[in-house]
Amino acid sequence: MNYEEYLRRVPKVELHCHFEGTVRPATFADLARQHDIALPTSDVGKLYDYETIYEFLKIFAMVSSTLIDRQDFARAAYESVADGATLGNLKYREMFFNPTLHTRRGVAMATIIDGLIDGIREAETDFGVRCRLIADVYRQDEPAVARQMVEDVLACRRPELIGLGMDGAEAPDPPEKFVDAYRVAARGGLRLTSHACEDAPPENVTSCLDVLGCERIDHGYHVLASPEVTGRCRDEGIYFTCCPTSTAVVYGWPDLTGHPIKDMVAAGLQVTINSDDPTMFHTDIGREYVDLCGALGYQVEQVRTFVLNGVDAAWLDDTDRAAMRADFTKELDELEQQLA
Ligand SMILES: [Zn+2]
Repeated sequence: MNYEEYLRRVPKVELHCHFEGTVRPATFADLARQHDIALPTSDVGKLYDYETIYEFLKIFAMVSSTLIDRQDFARAAYESVADGATLGNLKYREMFFNPTLHTRRGVAMATIIDGLIDGIREAETDFGVRCRLIADVYRQDEPAVARQMVEDVLACRRPELIGLGMDGAEAPDPPEKFVDAYRVAARGGLRLTSHACEDAPPENVTSCLDVLGCERIDHGYHVLASPEVTGRCRDEGIYFTCCPTSTAVVYGWPDLTGHPIKDMVAAGLQVTINSDDPTMFHTDIGREYVDLCGALGYQVEQVRTFVLNGVDAAWLDDTDRAAMRADFTKELDELEQQLA
């Protein structure tokens, strides 16, 4: 087995992946046809071609607009998990979805959540991949809208729905804007995370930890601008869910050799590797490992650390975590032995 194949085949946990950004282009085209939604091109291979972040956001919104019925969510969720399993040996995912992207179009919260659960349950049966759900606050929403979203999510609570996160453009809307929504979620027993320091200063990580009560940080690259905040995150063992390809594309980094993940790892931070919006960035969870570890010359020890960080950062109970750690360690040992 060569190194690339090894990287694709190591067992993986994924903690930063947006459902709406995992829809296959062919499924997007198919759903658009079913719902009579016009697309910018009839060439499926070009649907996810875009030049700027604004064009990307337009396509993201258009994909979302084709998800209407419970079976649309089920189909896309099933395929999303299936792709993780077949392309990157995904074993467990905690997947974001953005409720207000759909509810503001008139889709009922129960339709969204039950559809997603139909899909992930079927995928677990067929592929053995467990998937859990994290509802995301959309940063450009008003605080009252976010709070209502959390209340609606809690009213539709299912065992698969375990957390609250936050996404959207970071710079104009700091985390503390949504303290209310996070308090309601915490009271309702949801685990807490947030996108932070993707595109804003280190104070946003401090606010997420201290004001919102977040347990993990999604992205977190700009934490490096503050030695104090970096040191605190290292000492407290905060896990960062990093996404190599999507951020390199969005921020115009020419390749992954200069990605901040390198300095985060060197600073002793606990990093996990994730695919963010895989189909829209023409990647997958296997490829993220291949490209990042290839570019930065990471060897098997570091790969093992990334993989097991994912297990340790996951919102599993102690029994499940211990079992997953044992399974992963055995699989990693076997794969390393097969490495040429
Ligand atoms: Zn993200």
